[in-house]
Amino acid sequence: MGAGALAAASAPLGLLSGCAPKAKPAQVPLHLSFQHGIAPGETLAEKLDFMEKLGIEGYEPGGQYLLEHFDEITQNLRGRSIKVSAICAGFRGFILAEDPAVKAEFDTSMREIVEAAGRIGSTGVIMVPAFNHQKPCLPHTQETRDYLCEQLHELGEYALKCGTTVILEPLNRKEAFYMRQVADAAAICRDARSEGVKCMGDFWHMKEETSDYGAFMSAGTQYLRHVHMASKGNRKMPGENPEVDRFVEGFKALKELNYPYFVSFECGCGGDREVLVPAAVELLRQQWEEA
Ligand code: MG
Repeated sequence: MGAGALAAASAPLGLLSGCAPKAKPAQVPLHLSFQHGIAPGETLAEKLDFMEKLGIEGYEPGGQYLLEHFDEITQNLRGRSIKVSAICAGFRGFILAEDPAVKAEFDTSMREIVEAAGRIGSTGVIMVPAFNHQKPCLPHTQETRDYLCEQLHELGEYALKCGTTVILEPLNRKEAFYMRQVADAAAICRDARSEGVKCMGDFWHMKEETSDYGAFMSAGTQYLRHVHMASKGNRKMPGENPEVDRFVEGFKALKELNYPYFVSFECGCGGDREVLVPAAVELLRQQWEEA
C-alpha cells in the first residue's frame, strides 16, 4: 500500500465520505412573534409597544379577535416594524364533522377568517382537523383522509385567491389523535395538491416527535409555514423548565432550511410577564445563535 493510500485509510471517515460536519448556515434571522396574550399591557397599543422594544416582528391574533378588531389591529400596526404573523383558528365547527350543519358552520366561518387574514397580510390561518372532544367526528379511515385532502384542496385554493394559506397544526394524542406529527401534516399538504395548504410545528406538541430536527426537515421549505413556541415542560414561557427547554435541534433545522417565517409564542406564563417574557426572548436568541 502506498503512502497516499495509507493516509487515506487512516483519515477520519467524514473526510472521505463527504459526511464531515456542515459549516454553520449563513446568518439566518430569527423572526419572533407573540400571540395576543403574551405581552403585558391592557391595550393592543401597549402590547405592541412592549413587543417593539423587544424586537418582536410578528403578532398572532385569534381568528375571532381578528374579525372583531380588524380596523383596530390595522391602525395599531401602522408605522410599526410588526406585521401580523399568522391567525390562530377562531372558526366554528370543524372540517371532519359528521354533522353537515357543523361542517357548514366550519366552511362559512373559516372562509370569513381566511378572507380577513389575506387582507391583513397574514402568512396563513392555523387549523386542526378535529380535536378529540369534537364529536361526532368522521372515523379515522382512508376514506376520511381522502375526504380531508379534497376539502383542504378547495379551502387551500380559496386561501390562495385571498392571498394567504391554511396552516395545519399537528397536536399530540391527548388533544387530537387525528394528526400528531409534522411529517403527517406535511404529507396531507402534499396530497391536498394546493399551494394554499401548509403546515406548522409546535414545540409543545412536538414532544411526540422523536426528533425536532427531523420533524421540521420532513416538512421542509415546501410545506413549513409557521412554528409555535412554549416551554416543553409545562407550556409556559420558554426557560421556565430549563432542564427540558432546549430548542437548538429544531432551530438547526430551521436555519438549514433558511426558514423565512415566524416562531410565535403560544404559551402561558408562570410569573411576572415583565420579567419572564424578555428572559424567554433572550434565551431563544441565545439558542438560535448556538444552533
Ligand atoms: Mg400551537
